[in-house]
Amino acid sequence: PSQAARLYTEDDPVTILTTDTLKQTIHNSTTAWLVQFYSSWCGHCIQYSPTWKALAGDVKDWEQAIRIGVLDCAHEKNFDICKEFEIHFYPTFRYFKAHGSNTDIGKTYRGPDRELQTVRQLMVNFLQNHTKQDWPTRCPLLEPSRTEDILALIGQKREQYMAIIIEDTDSYVGREVILDLMPYEGVSVRRVLSSDKALMERLGVTAVPAAYLFHPNGTHGLMDAQKRLRFFFSSFLKLLPGVHRQSPASHQSPAHSSSNGQKRTEEWREFDKSKVYMADLESGLHYLLRVELARHQTLEGEQLRTFKDFVTVVAKLFPGRPSVVKLLETLLEWIVSLPLDKIPYDAVLDLVNNKMRISGLFLSDRVQWVGCQGSSASFRGYPCSLWTLFHVLTVQAAVRPDALANTALEDDPQAVLQTMRRYITTFFGCQECGHHFEEMAKESMGAVKTTDEAVLWLWRKHNQVNRRLAGAMSEDPLFPKTQWPTPDLCPTCHEERSGIHAWDEPTVLDFLKRHYGATNISPKYTL
Ligand code: FAD
Repeated sequence: PSQAARLYTEDDPVTILTTDTLKQTIHNSTTAWLVQFYSSWCGHCIQYSPTWKALAGDVKDWEQAIRIGVLDCAHEKNFDICKEFEIHFYPTFRYFKAHGSNTDIGKTYRGPDRELQTVRQLMVNFLQNHTKQDWPTRCPLLEPSRTEDILALIGQKREQYMAIIIEDTDSYVGREVILDLMPYEGVSVRRVLSSDKALMERLGVTAVPAAYLFHPNGTHGLMDAQKRLRFFFSSFLKLLPGVHRQSPASHQSPAHSSSNGQKRTEEWREFDKSKVYMADLESGLHYLLRVELARHQTLEGEQLRTFKDFVTVVAKLFPGRPSVVKLLETLLEWIVSLPLDKIPYDAVLDLVNNKMRISGLFLSDRVQWVGCQGSSASFRGYPCSLWTLFHVLTVQAAVRPDALANTALEDDPQAVLQTMRRYITTFFGCQECGHHFEEMAKESMGAVKTTDEAVLWLWRKHNQVNRRLAGAMSEDPLFPKTQWPTPDLCPTCHEERSGIHAWDEPTVLDFLKRHYGATNISPKYTL
């Protein structure tokens, strides 16, 4: 099929199966599988693909128990395998138990309701249909715990947190939270039924679902997750101190080692994650101007135009300290005044490092990460500061509409985004990141009509990247990739509609403007 007909790509959270991989993947697997056999020309399948992708994203953390796949029966290569698996209609949903034999062609789900929440609950039921013998290897217990086992926890010290979800018989919240926390270390989750009145009373639970938390130090109490919903319970637990995602590269404690053995030599700088740090922004600018761009001997053509627009955007919008802003403005005046179509980068460095310094204009040349600190030198840092910088700039463009007046970027609601796009594809050292970002930009950046939409666009795309990178090698185990802002930062940003997490976007916009606004930037740790 043509490029356009591909309903799923590697960037989606689904596993794309083909004739070459289907059997070896699903047969004798340690996890269960739910596979959609589709046809790329079938209208239903096309319409349904956003739901399937959303489902796969929603249950990505369950993948050590059950995984989501797709197989395109319209692809010539797959004709035979679809016949062998007796696929007659599209889409066909097939469940495959864990540890299945190599003749298993799965069990078809025929229900008319294919809504995300329904299918997600079916997945839970399906997992529970396994027996002790074929139970998915790493899947935790999903049955309710016994009262005496819970009571025995009271007052005990333990190595990690233990959360108990108390719920009605027909509720799925407990099992969903248990599965959501599967890839996390430092916490385990169990469920009990609210029909156990004595236990309810003992724990002081009056409304369900509820969550009760036993701390490692032996204290315990009802968990205040703000809203009694799956997403809030799961997020609360993932954010507990000491709870972190298992790292695929290393199962050791992240504070002491990392995948490539680069140890932290610097002292840890305490910070508040509800703030933005000027030290990160200035360190990022320093790295960008003196290291990343300095890899180019000369700038010309498209590179020079991109550099000029980048300097315009930061000089006009960066809410920095006066000496830094003045430095950027002077740099901009200098570039604009040059009649050249090619500049040697040494001249930029000379200006930034020597000439301006004489007049007191100075950008620190030390890298000092604060909110962008990683648990080792190979994590976070520069890319984190770049995201932060561009979020700050999109917010400034939205709250100071005249800031770009009399520049080439005047009156363009996409000014910051398009400049970022060109910077990332032209200069950002991580080329693969550039390709991914360009794909996202091509798809939807053009539709941004206002500066408020630009703020939201960047937030949405950053979350898309977070989703894709969750659990990847580049993830700092101390700072797991999450959908941001998490409920502890902004409880009212989150809602649930028909059992599915949803954002309240107007509230998110207000939050972003506050969080990335000039008054929330802390000068702490700047020299
Ligand atoms: P970051 O993702 O860098 O986020 C920094 C901070 O921004 C977070 O700590 C949080 O406070 C805040 N934040 C998080 N999410 C949002 C949001 N949705 N909206 C607003 N603020 C938010 N790495 C790869 O391995 N592959 C890639 O393809 C890739 N593409 C990238 C593309 C771009 C344009 C950039 C700038 C970086 C890319 N990276 C990629 C790097 C990756 O996204 C992270 O920056 C890096 O792994 C460091 O992660 P972090 O934990 O510091 O958080």
